[in-house]
Amino acid sequence: MEQPDLILVNAFILTMDSTLSQFSNGAIAIQGQKILAVGPEADIRSRYTASNVIDCHGKVLMPGLVNAHTHVPMTLLRGLADDLRLDVWLMGYMMPVEREFVSPQFVNLGTRLACAELIRSGVTAFADMYYFEDDVATATAEVGMRGVCGESVMKFPTPDAKFFEESLEYSREFIKKWKNHSLIVPSVAPHAPYTCTPEILRASADLAMEFDIPLQIHISETQLEVENMRRDQGMPVVPWVKKQGLLEAKVLAAHCVWIDDGEMRTLLHAHAGVAHNPSSNLKLASGAAPVKRMLDSGLQVGIGTDGPASNNDLDMFEEVRLAAFLAKTTSNDPTALPAQQALQMSTSMGAKALHIGDITGSLEPGKRADLILIDLSRLHSSPRFQRDPNAAYAQIVYSAKSSDVTDVMVDGKWLMQDKVLLTINEDEILREAQDYARRIDTFLIQREESVLSKLIAVGGLTEEESFEVQAKTAIPDPEQVIAALESSGIEIIRRRHYHEYDTYFIFDDENQGFLRYREDHFIDDRGQVTTVRSRLTLIGKAVEFRFPQDVLLSRSRYLAPATQSLRFYREYFKPVKEVEIEKDRRRFLVNFKGEEFFINIDKMISPSIGNFFEIKSRTWSRQDADLKSKLSIELIKTLYQGPVEMVSKDYFEVSK
Ligand SMILES: [Zn+2]
Repeated sequence: MEQPDLILVNAFILTMDSTLSQFSNGAIAIQGQKILAVGPEADIRSRYTASNVIDCHGKVLMPGLVNAHTHVPMTLLRGLADDLRLDVWLMGYMMPVEREFVSPQFVNLGTRLACAELIRSGVTAFADMYYFEDDVATATAEVGMRGVCGESVMKFPTPDAKFFEESLEYSREFIKKWKNHSLIVPSVAPHAPYTCTPEILRASADLAMEFDIPLQIHISETQLEVENMRRDQGMPVVPWVKKQGLLEAKVLAAHCVWIDDGEMRTLLHAHAGVAHNPSSNLKLASGAAPVKRMLDSGLQVGIGTDGPASNNDLDMFEEVRLAAFLAKTTSNDPTALPAQQALQMSTSMGAKALHIGDITGSLEPGKRADLILIDLSRLHSSPRFQRDPNAAYAQIVYSAKSSDVTDVMVDGKWLMQDKVLLTINEDEILREAQDYARRIDTFLIQREESVLSKLIAVGGLTEEESFEVQAKTAIPDPEQVIAALESSGIEIIRRRHYHEYDTYFIFDDENQGFLRYREDHFIDDRGQVTTVRSRLTLIGKAVEFRFPQDVLLSRSRYLAPATQSLRFYREYFKPVKEVEIEKDRRRFLVNFKGEEFFINIDKMISPSIGNFFEIKSRTWSRQDADLKSKLSIELIKTLYQGPVEMVSKDYFEVSK
């Protein structure tokens, strides 16, 4: 008689194999990392004997759950910023905090915290994408869990790379190091089409194919992402990534909330797996993925929690239940996504979506011993019916809780027995995590005190001229001044015509200055808008001098390209008041007596407060400013013979 290392007996076994075999009085024989046999207890006992036989007391024994998409170290950012739109949440909070705090130690601790939570909710394998992924993999392997671990690559600087080339190089070394590890499957993770360049996508796909490893990416998470792609590239997201060669790799596509039937077929033909993330999609109001249609099309769809900062937990029991409920309610069909199919998605099908279906996801001889025991004798699961074989699945999906998981084994090793974690010190993790929370709190409290530091946090900031000379007067007729300029003999270096839309954000604390979001719509000779440019300017309250000639010398200004929408900045900066100004501006760059000046001739449209003639010049020294202030008055008087009544305040001040 064969003698395996271990036999588990007296279990209600759900194998989750292709025929969904169940054994109500079942047993499983385990040798080393692998399952040797699974079947009725009498049958197993007649073939095998072991010194280590464990009685499962009638609990459900099934494959461990597969979390198809997460960012495990983000447990340390859980609850940091909630109830925000995806862009404000991501660009305004997550990324700035990540740039400041994410380090190998952060990642190691966050991963251990996540693993403890995942094990407690019956998860044995997960797909992760983050930074310092080598530290994610190391912590995961030390804990003893199975992970498909992908180093994130994107076009922006990340906590572990200034340039994407570094991330790709890191990925290559990471993949070489972990390839053929018994628990870790290395992977490459270009973050998303909108955070990557075609070059990054191509290089990532090449890397994945070179080493035959999975590639993870976020696809069509929001409607906005798809609209932008259609507008910029004339096609939805999946055909576009296909064009970049991405689908030649073994892809795991997270979200796919906004894909159509054609895109599903494209993913299917590429043998791509999909990770459905119901909690995250619900919480961020991203929409409901067409899960039933994806499943009907034949796609392998797994279920994931997404990162714990957008969920906010890693409870797969909750996720599986939500997946079933969401599919039913969005298809108006209570028969859609029945419990056993939802449980398949989170076990065997999930493993296939992760491209590790050959080693885990079901209880079958030859597969790794990744399994869990669930106690279904608790109040909320009682009583139990035997008539319908689907009852067991329904009980797990609709009434069991993650806290009913009592034992977890991965790769033949117990990670939890009788609810005691065997490879993780929970108290230590909780203490260290709280320490991080304190430091991050301090950082954010400081940042939120200043508009400038908030602006710096969203990136791309430059401090502009130290001095700006500005002379401004109200005029009755703009055309008259333009005609005077054209015939004056003054050299015109450049001329522009645009429509300007300004939104001023005003804050409670006047010392913060005010923030201007400006959209310039450039207008050509035929009066058509050719290009639109958006800029953010923080205009400091400080340093304001008045020359005797009533020329205003102002202020330090901070400029940033406005890469986000006005709505983003409104939600991020939370001004107490907004002022909107619209004007038609003719702008000339001229050379007047050897100095360069900008001449702005503005027709105010809203508020309708007349026309203005303005001279502006930048300078870096006080002496130069003095000269320029004299010249600017002279320039005004040269071009405009009417009464000059200086307006030293901004339009904004005028309209207030
Ligand atoms: Zn994600």
